[in-house]
Amino acid sequence: MIIDLRSDTVTQPTAAMRKAMHDAEVGDDVHGDDPTVNRLEAMAAERLGHEAGLFMPSGTQSNLVALLTHCGRGDEYICGHDAHTYRYEGGGAAVFGGIQPQPVPFGDDGGLPLDAVASVIKDRADTHFAKTRLLCLENTQHGRVQSLESLREARAFAHAHALAIHLDGARAANAAVVLGVSLEDIGRCFDSVSLCLSKGLGAPVGSMLVGSTEFIAAARRWRKVAGGGMRQAGVLAAAGIIALEEGPAALADDHAKARELATALEPLPGISLRPGWLQSNMVWLSLPEDKVTGVLAAAAEAGLRLSLSRQGWSRIVLHRDIPSGALPTIVEVFARGLDT
Ligand SMILES: *Cc1c(COP(=O)(O)O)cnc(C)c1O
Repeated sequence: MIIDLRSDTVTQPTAAMRKAMHDAEVGDDVHGDDPTVNRLEAMAAERLGHEAGLFMPSGTQSNLVALLTHCGRGDEYICGHDAHTYRYEGGGAAVFGGIQPQPVPFGDDGGLPLDAVASVIKDRADTHFAKTRLLCLENTQHGRVQSLESLREARAFAHAHALAIHLDGARAANAAVVLGVSLEDIGRCFDSVSLCLSKGLGAPVGSMLVGSTEFIAAARRWRKVAGGGMRQAGVLAAAGIIALEEGPAALADDHAKARELATALEPLPGISLRPGWLQSNMVWLSLPEDKVTGVLAAAAEAGLRLSLSRQGWSRIVLHRDIPSGALPTIVEVFARGLDT
Protein backbone atom coordinates (compact mmCIF):
# COMPACT_ATOMS: atom_id res chain seq x y z
CA MET A 1 0.00 0.00 0.00
CA ILE A 2 1.34 3.44 -0.97
CA ILE A 3 0.29 6.26 1.34
CA ASP A 4 1.12 9.55 -0.32
CA LEU A 5 1.04 12.50 2.06
CA ARG A 6 2.90 15.01 -0.10
CA SER A 7 -0.13 16.73 -1.60
CA ASP A 8 -3.80 16.31 -2.46
CA THR A 9 -2.76 16.59 -6.13
CA VAL A 10 -1.85 12.89 -5.98
CA THR A 11 -5.52 11.81 -5.86
CA GLN A 12 -6.38 9.40 -8.66
CA PRO A 13 -9.48 9.65 -10.84
CA THR A 14 -12.32 7.50 -9.49
CA ALA A 15 -13.99 4.71 -11.45
CA ALA A 16 -16.94 7.05 -12.13
CA MET A 17 -14.54 9.68 -13.50
CA ARG A 18 -12.80 7.18 -15.76
CA LYS A 19 -16.15 6.02 -17.10
CA ALA A 20 -17.31 9.60 -17.70
CA MET A 21 -14.01 10.34 -19.46
CA HIS A 22 -14.47 7.29 -21.66
CA ASP A 23 -18.02 8.26 -22.58
CA ALA A 24 -17.48 12.03 -22.88
CA GLU A 25 -18.96 13.83 -25.84
CA VAL A 26 -16.19 16.02 -27.25
CA GLY A 27 -15.41 18.65 -29.88
CA ASP A 28 -12.67 21.15 -30.63
CA ASP A 29 -12.71 23.44 -27.61
CA VAL A 30 -10.55 26.09 -29.29
CA HIS A 31 -13.54 26.56 -31.61
CA GLY A 32 -15.89 26.45 -28.59
CA ASP A 33 -17.28 23.13 -29.87
CA ASP A 34 -16.71 20.84 -26.91
CA PRO A 35 -20.05 20.35 -25.19
CA THR A 36 -18.52 18.75 -22.10
CA VAL A 37 -16.06 21.62 -21.59
CA ASN A 38 -18.87 24.11 -22.14
CA ARG A 39 -20.97 22.36 -19.52
CA LEU A 40 -18.13 22.37 -17.00
CA GLU A 41 -17.42 26.06 -17.63
CA ALA A 42 -21.08 27.01 -17.14
CA MET A 43 -21.30 24.87 -14.02
CA ALA A 44 -18.15 26.35 -12.44
CA ALA A 45 -19.34 29.89 -13.16
CA GLU A 46 -22.66 29.17 -11.52
CA ARG A 47 -21.16 27.45 -8.49
CA LEU A 48 -18.76 30.33 -7.88
CA GLY A 49 -21.35 33.05 -8.51
CA HIS A 50 -19.80 34.45 -11.70
CA GLU A 51 -21.02 35.00 -15.27
CA ALA A 52 -18.50 32.87 -17.11
CA GLY A 53 -15.87 30.16 -16.63
CA LEU A 54 -12.78 28.90 -18.42
CA PHE A 55 -11.29 25.40 -18.19
CA MET A 56 -7.56 25.65 -17.58
CA PRO A 57 -4.86 22.96 -17.76
CA SER A 58 -3.45 23.88 -14.34
CA GLY A 59 -3.83 26.23 -11.41
CA THR A 60 -0.54 27.87 -12.32
CA GLN A 61 -1.77 28.73 -15.81
CA SER A 62 -5.13 29.80 -14.39
CA ASN A 63 -3.48 32.34 -12.06
CA LEU A 64 -1.10 33.44 -14.80
CA VAL A 65 -3.96 34.06 -17.24
CA ALA A 66 -5.92 35.92 -14.52
CA LEU A 67 -2.91 38.16 -13.90
CA LEU A 68 -2.34 38.75 -17.63
CA THR A 69 -6.02 39.65 -17.98
CA HIS A 70 -6.17 42.04 -15.02
CA CYS A 71 -2.76 43.66 -15.51
CA GLY A 72 -0.59 44.91 -18.35
CA ARG A 73 3.14 45.44 -18.76
CA GLY A 74 4.35 47.87 -16.09
CA ASP A 75 1.41 47.15 -13.80
CA GLU A 76 1.71 45.62 -10.37
CA TYR A 77 -0.24 43.17 -8.24
CA ILE A 78 -0.17 42.92 -4.45
CA CYS A 79 0.05 39.47 -2.88
CA GLY A 80 1.34 37.68 0.22
CA HIS A 81 5.11 37.23 0.63
CA ASP A 82 4.65 33.47 0.39
CA ALA A 83 1.78 33.52 -2.14
CA HIS A 84 1.67 30.70 -4.66
CA THR A 85 1.60 33.20 -7.55
CA TYR A 86 4.69 34.95 -6.22
CA ARG A 87 6.77 32.13 -4.82
CA TYR A 88 5.75 28.88 -6.52
CA GLU A 89 4.86 29.75 -10.11
CA GLY A 90 8.29 30.59 -11.49
CA GLY A 91 7.53 34.31 -11.42
CA GLY A 92 5.23 33.76 -14.44
CA ALA A 93 3.46 37.10 -14.25
CA ALA A 94 6.82 38.90 -14.42
CA VAL A 95 8.30 36.47 -16.96
CA PHE A 96 5.44 36.55 -19.46
CA GLY A 97 3.51 39.68 -18.57
CA GLY A 98 6.00 42.31 -17.37
CA ILE A 99 3.81 42.44 -14.25
CA GLN A 100 5.60 43.35 -11.04
CA PRO A 101 4.63 41.55 -7.84
CA GLN A 102 4.45 43.65 -4.67
CA PRO A 103 4.57 41.18 -1.79
CA VAL A 104 3.28 42.03 1.67
CA PRO A 105 3.83 39.72 4.67
CA PHE A 106 0.90 37.42 5.28
CA GLY A 107 -0.75 37.91 8.66
CA ASP A 108 -0.76 35.08 11.22
CA ASP A 109 -4.12 33.97 9.85
CA GLY A 110 -2.95 33.75 6.20
CA GLY A 111 -4.74 36.97 5.24
CA LEU A 112 -3.24 40.26 4.10
CA PRO A 113 -3.44 43.05 6.69
CA LEU A 114 -5.20 45.83 4.78
CA ASP A 115 -3.19 48.64 6.38
CA ALA A 116 -0.03 46.97 5.04
CA VAL A 117 -1.68 46.63 1.62
CA ALA A 118 -2.72 50.30 1.70
CA SER A 119 0.87 51.34 2.44
CA VAL A 120 2.20 49.78 -0.81
CA ILE A 121 -0.48 51.06 -3.21
CA LYS A 122 1.29 53.52 -5.48
CA ASP A 123 0.27 56.85 -6.99
CA ARG A 124 -0.61 56.05 -10.59
CA ALA A 125 0.09 59.61 -11.68
CA ASP A 126 3.71 59.39 -10.49
CA THR A 127 5.93 58.06 -13.29
CA HIS A 128 8.36 56.54 -10.78
CA PHE A 129 6.01 53.72 -9.95
CA ALA A 130 4.53 50.61 -11.46
CA LYS A 131 0.74 50.98 -11.60
CA THR A 132 -0.94 49.04 -8.80
CA ARG A 133 -3.90 47.24 -10.35
CA LEU A 134 -4.77 44.12 -8.45
CA LEU A 135 -4.97 42.56 -5.02
CA CYS A 136 -4.52 38.79 -4.95
CA LEU A 137 -5.56 36.66 -1.95
CA GLU A 138 -5.41 32.93 -1.18
CA ASN A 139 -8.03 30.77 0.50
CA THR A 140 -7.00 28.38 1.89
CA GLN A 141 -3.49 29.75 2.51
CA HIS A 142 -1.18 26.87 3.51
CA GLY A 143 -4.34 25.21 4.82
CA ARG A 144 -5.51 28.25 6.78
CA VAL A 145 -9.04 29.45 6.11
CA GLN A 146 -10.00 33.08 5.50
CA SER A 147 -13.38 34.11 6.87
CA LEU A 148 -16.14 35.49 4.68
CA GLU A 149 -16.08 38.75 6.65
CA SER A 150 -12.37 39.24 5.95
CA LEU A 151 -12.91 38.50 2.23
CA ARG A 152 -15.79 40.97 2.02
CA GLU A 153 -13.70 43.58 3.75
CA ALA A 154 -10.84 42.97 1.30
CA ARG A 155 -13.22 43.31 -1.65
CA ALA A 156 -14.62 46.64 -0.41
CA PHE A 157 -11.07 47.84 0.32
CA ALA A 158 -9.78 46.85 -3.14
CA HIS A 159 -12.65 48.49 -4.97
CA ALA A 160 -12.38 51.65 -2.84
CA HIS A 161 -8.75 51.85 -4.05
CA ALA A 162 -9.69 51.15 -7.69
CA LEU A 163 -8.03 47.73 -7.57
CA ALA A 164 -9.44 44.51 -8.94
CA ILE A 165 -9.37 41.53 -6.57
CA HIS A 166 -8.44 37.96 -7.54
CA LEU A 167 -8.63 34.81 -5.44
CA ASP A 168 -6.09 32.07 -5.87
CA GLY A 169 -8.70 29.64 -4.59
CA ALA A 170 -6.85 26.45 -5.44
CA ARG A 171 -8.45 24.99 -2.31
CA ALA A 172 -11.44 27.35 -2.02
CA ALA A 173 -13.75 24.33 -1.80
CA ASN A 174 -11.93 23.26 1.38
CA ALA A 175 -12.42 26.76 2.78
CA ALA A 176 -16.14 26.70 1.96
CA VAL A 177 -16.56 23.37 3.75
CA VAL A 178 -14.73 24.59 6.87
CA LEU A 179 -16.71 27.85 6.95
CA GLY A 180 -19.99 26.07 6.24
CA VAL A 181 -20.72 28.47 3.37
CA SER A 182 -21.21 27.94 -0.37
CA LEU A 183 -18.47 28.33 -2.96
CA GLU A 184 -20.66 31.11 -4.32
CA ASP A 185 -20.42 33.04 -1.03
CA ILE A 186 -16.63 33.00 -1.41
CA GLY A 187 -16.66 33.54 -5.18
CA ARG A 188 -18.78 36.68 -4.92
CA CYS A 189 -16.09 38.42 -2.87
CA PHE A 190 -13.81 38.52 -5.94
CA ASP A 191 -13.67 39.79 -9.50
CA SER A 192 -12.04 36.52 -10.54
CA VAL A 193 -11.38 33.17 -8.91
CA SER A 194 -9.11 30.27 -9.77
CA LEU A 195 -10.16 26.88 -8.37
CA CYS A 196 -8.19 23.62 -8.71
CA LEU A 197 -10.20 20.56 -9.70
CA SER A 198 -7.07 18.42 -9.49
CA LYS A 199 -6.42 18.63 -5.75
CA GLY A 200 -8.79 17.43 -3.04
CA LEU A 201 -11.72 17.49 -5.47
CA GLY A 202 -10.04 14.56 -7.19
CA ALA A 203 -9.97 15.33 -10.93
CA PRO A 204 -6.84 14.09 -12.72
CA VAL A 205 -6.15 17.45 -14.40
CA GLY A 206 -7.48 20.97 -14.53
CA SER A 207 -8.49 24.19 -12.86
CA MET A 208 -11.32 26.66 -13.41
CA LEU A 209 -11.03 30.39 -13.84
CA VAL A 210 -14.25 32.37 -13.42
CA GLY A 211 -15.18 36.03 -13.78
CA SER A 212 -17.41 38.36 -15.77
CA THR A 213 -18.27 37.53 -19.39
CA GLU A 214 -15.94 40.27 -20.55
CA PHE A 215 -13.10 39.12 -18.27
CA ILE A 216 -13.37 35.51 -19.40
CA ALA A 217 -13.46 36.51 -23.08
CA ALA A 218 -10.15 38.31 -22.58
CA ALA A 219 -8.79 35.42 -20.48
CA ARG A 220 -9.72 32.95 -23.23
CA ARG A 221 -7.41 34.85 -25.55
CA TRP A 222 -4.56 34.79 -23.00
CA ARG A 223 -5.10 31.08 -22.44
CA LYS A 224 -4.59 30.51 -26.17
CA VAL A 225 -1.47 32.71 -26.11
CA ALA A 226 -0.13 30.71 -23.16
CA GLY A 227 -0.62 27.48 -25.11
CA GLY A 228 -3.59 26.36 -23.06
CA GLY A 229 -6.07 25.79 -25.91
CA MET A 230 -6.77 22.09 -25.46
CA ARG A 231 -8.95 20.81 -28.36
CA GLN A 232 -10.98 17.69 -27.35
CA ALA A 233 -10.59 18.56 -23.70
CA GLY A 234 -14.02 17.14 -22.89
CA VAL A 235 -12.31 13.90 -21.83
CA LEU A 236 -10.74 15.89 -18.99
CA ALA A 237 -13.72 18.14 -18.36
CA ALA A 238 -15.92 15.05 -17.86
CA ALA A 239 -13.85 14.16 -14.79
CA GLY A 240 -13.89 17.82 -13.76
CA ILE A 241 -17.69 17.85 -13.72
CA ILE A 242 -17.73 14.95 -11.28
CA ALA A 243 -15.04 16.64 -9.18
CA LEU A 244 -17.14 19.79 -8.97
CA GLU A 245 -20.40 17.98 -8.29
CA GLU A 246 -19.23 15.36 -5.83
CA GLY A 247 -15.82 16.53 -4.61
CA PRO A 248 -16.82 19.21 -2.10
CA ALA A 249 -19.03 16.89 -0.04
CA ALA A 250 -16.08 14.54 0.50
CA LEU A 251 -13.68 17.21 1.80
CA ALA A 252 -15.02 17.18 5.36
CA ASP A 253 -13.56 13.68 5.63
CA ASP A 254 -10.10 14.94 4.68
CA HIS A 255 -10.36 17.62 7.35
CA ALA A 256 -11.45 15.06 9.94
CA LYS A 257 -8.51 12.82 8.97
CA ALA A 258 -6.14 15.76 9.45
CA ARG A 259 -7.48 16.41 12.95
CA GLU A 260 -7.36 12.73 13.83
CA LEU A 261 -3.77 12.40 12.60
CA ALA A 262 -2.68 15.56 14.43
CA THR A 263 -4.19 14.28 17.66
CA ALA A 264 -2.29 11.00 17.28
CA LEU A 265 1.03 12.63 16.36
CA GLU A 266 1.02 15.38 18.95
CA PRO A 267 2.10 13.24 21.95
CA LEU A 268 5.15 11.80 20.13
CA PRO A 269 8.37 13.14 21.65
CA GLY A 270 10.08 15.69 19.37
CA ILE A 271 7.09 16.55 17.18
CA SER A 272 5.69 20.08 17.33
CA LEU A 273 2.48 20.98 15.57
CA ARG A 274 2.27 24.48 14.18
CA PRO A 275 -0.19 26.28 16.45
CA GLY A 276 -3.34 27.49 14.74
CA TRP A 277 -2.55 26.02 11.32
CA LEU A 278 -4.69 22.89 11.61
CA GLN A 279 -7.79 24.23 9.87
CA SER A 280 -8.48 22.13 6.78
CA ASN A 281 -6.64 19.20 5.17
CA MET A 282 -3.06 19.98 6.20
CA VAL A 283 -1.10 19.11 9.31
CA TRP A 284 1.94 21.37 9.78
CA LEU A 285 4.69 20.01 11.99
CA SER A 286 8.37 20.20 12.74
CA LEU A 287 10.83 17.55 13.82
CA PRO A 288 14.26 17.76 15.43
CA GLU A 289 16.72 18.16 12.54
CA ASP A 290 18.64 15.00 13.47
CA LYS A 291 15.47 12.90 13.32
CA VAL A 292 14.35 13.75 9.80
CA THR A 293 16.57 11.16 8.11
CA GLY A 294 15.28 8.43 10.44
CA VAL A 295 11.63 9.34 9.82
CA LEU A 296 12.18 9.40 6.05
CA ALA A 297 13.86 5.98 6.20
CA ALA A 298 10.98 4.53 8.21
CA ALA A 299 8.54 6.12 5.77
CA ALA A 300 10.28 4.62 2.73
CA GLU A 301 10.18 1.20 4.33
CA ALA A 302 6.43 1.46 4.97
CA GLY A 303 5.51 2.86 1.53
CA LEU A 304 4.79 6.29 2.95
CA ARG A 305 5.57 9.27 0.73
CA LEU A 306 6.45 12.34 2.75
CA SER A 307 8.17 15.60 2.00
CA LEU A 308 9.88 16.83 5.15
CA SER A 309 11.98 19.92 5.60
CA ARG A 310 15.16 19.45 7.62
CA GLN A 311 14.53 22.75 9.32
CA GLY A 312 11.30 24.57 9.99
CA TRP A 313 7.79 23.43 9.20
CA SER A 314 6.65 20.62 6.95
CA ARG A 315 3.17 19.79 5.83
CA ILE A 316 1.25 16.55 5.65
CA VAL A 317 -1.69 16.73 3.26
CA LEU A 318 -4.75 14.56 3.75
CA HIS A 319 -6.98 13.54 0.84
CA ARG A 320 -9.50 10.97 -0.31
CA ASP A 321 -6.92 8.39 -1.41
CA ILE A 322 -5.60 7.95 2.13
CA PRO A 323 -7.77 5.27 3.67
CA SER A 324 -8.63 6.07 7.28
CA GLY A 325 -7.11 2.67 8.16
CA ALA A 326 -3.74 4.14 7.18
CA LEU A 327 -3.54 6.50 10.13
CA PRO A 328 -2.01 3.97 12.57
CA THR A 329 0.66 3.17 9.97
CA ILE A 330 1.52 6.85 9.61
CA VAL A 331 1.80 7.33 13.37
CA GLU A 332 3.92 4.18 13.63
CA VAL A 333 6.34 5.50 11.01
CA PHE A 334 6.84 8.75 12.92
CA ALA A 335 7.19 6.93 16.23
CA ARG A 336 9.77 4.54 14.78
CA GLY A 337 11.69 7.27 12.96
CA LEU A 338 11.84 9.49 16.04
CA ASP A 339 13.09 6.60 18.10
CA THR A 340 16.14 5.92 15.89
C1 LIG B 1 -1.60 23.97 -6.29
C2 LIG B 1 -1.78 25.43 -6.18
C3 LIG B 1 -1.75 26.23 -7.32
C4 LIG B 1 -1.35 25.73 -8.69
O1 LIG B 1 -1.98 24.64 -9.18
P1 LIG B 1 -1.25 23.63 -10.21
O2 LIG B 1 -2.43 22.97 -10.81
O3 LIG B 1 -0.40 22.76 -9.38
O4 LIG B 1 -0.49 24.44 -11.19
C5 LIG B 1 -1.96 27.57 -7.16
N1 LIG B 1 -2.19 28.10 -5.94
C6 LIG B 1 -2.22 27.37 -4.83
C7 LIG B 1 -2.49 28.03 -3.52
C8 LIG B 1 -2.01 26.01 -4.91
O5 LIG B 1 -2.02 25.28 -3.79
